[in-house]
Amino acid sequence: MGRAATGRGADMEFDVDLFVIGGGSGGVRAARIAAGHGATVMLAEEFRMGGTCVIRGCVPKKLYVLAGRFARDFREARGFGWQVGETSHDWHALVAAKEAEITRLEGLYAKGQTSAGVTVVKSRAVLEGPHTVRILDDNRVVRAKHILIATGGRPNLDSKLPGIEHVVTSNEVFDLKAFPRRLVIAGGGYIALEFAGIFRDLGADVTVIYRGDKPLRGFDEDLRDGLMEAYRKAGIRFVLNDTFASIEKTAEGLVGHTKGGEQLAADQILFAIGRSPNVEGLGLEKAGVALAKDGAIAVDAASRTNVPHIFAVGDVTNRVNLTPVAIREGHAVADTLFGAAKGIAPWQVDHTIIPTAVFTTPELGTVGLTEADARTGFPVVDLYKTSFRGMKATLSGSEDRVMMKLLVNAETDRILGCHILGDGAAEMIQLVGIAVKMGATKRDFDQTMALHPSAAEELVTMRTRTARFERAS
Ligand code: FAD
Ligand code: NDP
Repeated sequence: MGRAATGRGADMEFDVDLFVIGGGSGGVRAARIAAGHGATVMLAEEFRMGGTCVIRGCVPKKLYVLAGRFARDFREARGFGWQVGETSHDWHALVAAKEAEITRLEGLYAKGQTSAGVTVVKSRAVLEGPHTVRILDDNRVVRAKHILIATGGRPNLDSKLPGIEHVVTSNEVFDLKAFPRRLVIAGGGYIALEFAGIFRDLGADVTVIYRGDKPLRGFDEDLRDGLMEAYRKAGIRFVLNDTFASIEKTAEGLVGHTKGGEQLAADQILFAIGRSPNVEGLGLEKAGVALAKDGAIAVDAASRTNVPHIFAVGDVTNRVNLTPVAIREGHAVADTLFGAAKGIAPWQVDHTIIPTAVFTTPELGTVGLTEADARTGFPVVDLYKTSFRGMKATLSGSEDRVMMKLLVNAETDRILGCHILGDGAAEMIQLVGIAVKMGATKRDFDQTMALHPSAAEELVTMRTRTARFERAS
């Protein structure tokens, strides 16, 4: 074939300096930055530009969370003197508004690429050899000096489960044809709990079926307990230590039969039991790219695979599966490969102390170590913890409580972890994350003047230690 992209950068042996497979969070950042450094870049996206986060992840999810929270606001406004008339929610209007917004963003992402000089191909692309990528739509073969795999992940399904064809995943749930009055959600992680909150707030009867005894494994126990309590009060039902045995379609809808003998009737069943790296049919074996044990593409700290000129970033590497992490990994690869022209030295992403939030209501924000990890990792750990009714709740009548805790290394006074449950937890934890990442001490927190009246002021006014934990030696 002729040269796929001409001009700047690419030497004669290759059509492009960089071929990026996947136009999601990691891929678009890498492509745009590399092109900005003068590289010739081609990017292939098989579905919609922007990837999971923009099209069927973070962005539409947060819009739906915001939609659900109005229901609470309408209820609680009465405590502040508002007379709120009859309210009702139009699912189709929300889906349409969401679609308009993600289409706008998709356009911006595509434009961002082309304005940076990236050649965007709307097709599936697969590896054909160590330096060649095949574009499936027109069967073109592109010779690339470097290749970046940024193909993301896909929802897991228990394919052997009888009736699995009747369930939906997060890929479909945003666009359901009808609002599910009764929703059963399998799983106990981020997606299961976020959608439980969304659909409950929008008016559905929601049941969560989880294989363990408490959802959100890996999060701090106080967050897990606090969220469970709030969700139960909100009317979300939990079926714990149980999984589906089969799913049956009846005239009245779906019925999930559980191994524990429950029958869960539903209009829709959402499976949110984790995600797997998107590597199937990608031609990795043709390029000699090795997988790690968990099925993800194995990479080093520089996101380089075992084939030195092939890199992988984001969910396909299953390190920390969050959008900002994929973006930063993509940016690092682009700077490392092509930044020298602009005097940028190679760099690597630091995967420690990453703030994260679960967009449930109440919201959950966390950074650093859980109490359990801090106590096993450090000889003496001080705990500062508070639980209170937020100011809004004093008039609104809401029973939700705000919980905040700080874990401190008693020997150095450094903050090891911070966990927040309540309104604004995501916004707060992003900022606390700066302090924790900088190595802030409890004294630094104490010396920071409170901002009143706010919930966040509690973070700098927790003077009395709640507990001291000494590790048994
Ligand atoms: P993706 O964004 O998944 O992009 C991969 C792209 O590659 C896709 O567009 C895909 O179509 C394309 N592709 C795959 N194979 C090929 C091929 N062979 N050829 C061409 N194109 C291909 N993270 C957060 O930080 N905050 C959140 O609030 C949040 N909410 C989420 C909610 C949901 C429901 C889900 C599912 C995820 C959420 N995430 C969130 C996670 C976040 O979406 C991912 O971590 C992020 O999108 C990973 O980026 P990526 O570039 O690795 O992959
Ligand atoms: P998670 O890994 O968060 O949770 C998966 C859940 O499914 C866990 O409760 C797990 O149980 C359970 N599970 C796993 N396998 C099975 C099985 N075979 N049968 C029954 N249950 C099972 O994955 P999600 O799908 O919720 O989300 C994927 C990732 O996307 C997240 O980990 C996160 O990185 C990202 N994300 C981030 C968000 C944010 O930043 N707010 C929002 C949504 C997603 P157990 O714990 O017992 O293993």
